[in-house]
Formats: sequence, C-alpha cells, structure tokens
Amino acid sequence: MTPLSKRGLLQTTGLMGAGALLGCATPGVAQSTVRTPFAVAPTTIPIVGSDEMFPVRRIYCIGRNYAAHSREMGSDPTREPPFFFQKPTDAIQHVPTGTVADHPYPSLTKNYHYEAELVAVLGKGGRNIALDKALEHVYGYAAGLDMTRRDLQRAMGDQKKPWEIGKSFDRSAPIGPVHKVALTGHFTQGSIWLKVNGELKQNANLNQMMWSVAEQISKLSEANELFPGDIIYSGTPENVGPVVRGDVIEMHIDGLPNLSVKIT
Ligand code: MN
Repeated sequence: MTPLSKRGLLQTTGLMGAGALLGCATPGVAQSTVRTPFAVAPTTIPIVGSDEMFPVRRIYCIGRNYAAHSREMGSDPTREPPFFFQKPTDAIQHVPTGTVADHPYPSLTKNYHYEAELVAVLGKGGRNIALDKALEHVYGYAAGLDMTRRDLQRAMGDQKKPWEIGKSFDRSAPIGPVHKVALTGHFTQGSIWLKVNGELKQNANLNQMMWSVAEQISKLSEANELFPGDIIYSGTPENVGPVVRGDVIEMHIDGLPNLSVKIT
C-alpha cells in the first residue's frame, strides 16, 4: 500500500466514525458498520460565519515561545529548538464571544495560572511541511487560554517527571470560536493582552514569538504527521500569574474578539 492510499483509507475511516457517532450518513461514504457500546462525543468549536463546526483532532501547545516568558520560567531564551506538549482533545472549553463563561477552578492545585495564546487551527495535514508552505495548512485562528496548574507543573519538573498533570487536565483549554483565515488574514504581529478583574497582567506583541506559527507547523510536522483538525496553541508572553475563584479573565488579540472566563 502506498503512503498516499494508506492516508486516504485512514481519513475515510475517520469520516465513517464521525458519521456513525452523529447518527447520519456522510455524503459519499458508506455508513459505518462499526458498533460501539456507547457514544463518545466529538470535540468541536463553532466557526464564525458558518453553520459548520470545526472538529478538533489534537491539541498541540508550544512551550516557552516568548523570550521574556522563557526567562520567567527559568530558562535561557536562546533560540533552542521549539518543544511541544499536548492536551487531551476534550480539554477544550468553547467560550462564545460576548459571554463570560464559568470556568471551574481545577482539583489538586493551589497555584492556577492563565496563559493567553493565539491558536492556529489546521485544515490540511502533512509531514515535513516546508516553511514557505506552512501557512497554507492553516484553516483559521482563535484566542485561547493554556490554563496551567503551575505548582504541579513545577513540582513534576523538579522531580524530572513529565509535567502532564500541570497542563493536561479537564477544561484546561478555553478557546473562542474559529475565525477563518479569509476573515482575519495571518497573525504575524499585533497586540496580545490579558486582564484579571480589569487589571492588565500580560501585554505583548505577537511579533515577539521566537517561533512563528509557520515555523511551529513546519517543526511540529517533523515530529508528527499533522492532520486537519489539529490545533496549535502558539505560546504565551511574559507575566503569567495566578487566579482564584471569583476572578474574571479577559484576553485580547488584535483582529479577534476578546475571550472572557470567570473562575468558579
Ligand atoms: Mn502555554
């Protein structure tokens, strides 16, 4: 089987699974005969100006992508190769524009941090994607929060254990709706800020990213084959910090509507 036909088969299988879960036939695809003992809800995000939903396959996040944030995390912000981690797909909490969504303070932590981030969502996959073609894989963008149990992340790091428990937990990925590239263009610069209870905490420019969205896609595709539905949290600027119950977070990226959550 050639790599191309194998990929086609995998995509077809995915469509059949989705069709079965949603209880409808996918046009052009035979109805699935796979039987499951229970349904698992797909993770989707509304797409602005469309009645379609964006299906999330994987959530990737880049670490330490702004020099000043890298320094505050105790790293040397020389341009070392980018590193990525993942959150579980169902960590997504969609926050409708114009609302302040309740966001539950998670278990186990006493130091719960915000990280305001631009999120690139992919409409096209690939492996070893060339830098000059990378942005062609972007379907759109959203504002997102990479919520972090900082005390757990640090404790695990100190013990040289995976810090997954600090990053990858239920509802750790609040996100606004997807805006298609045609609506927004690509984001290479522009203000990104975050306020807590109206007080400015993070305030930076997207042009301060050490690795651009295009570079992130190209580099990540060397480690994993990317697929439509993969999304990439592109890193947070400096001045991350804690929130407690009752706090309201508002984040902004030039060209996208603000995203707000209340910690409950
Ligand atoms: Mn982050």
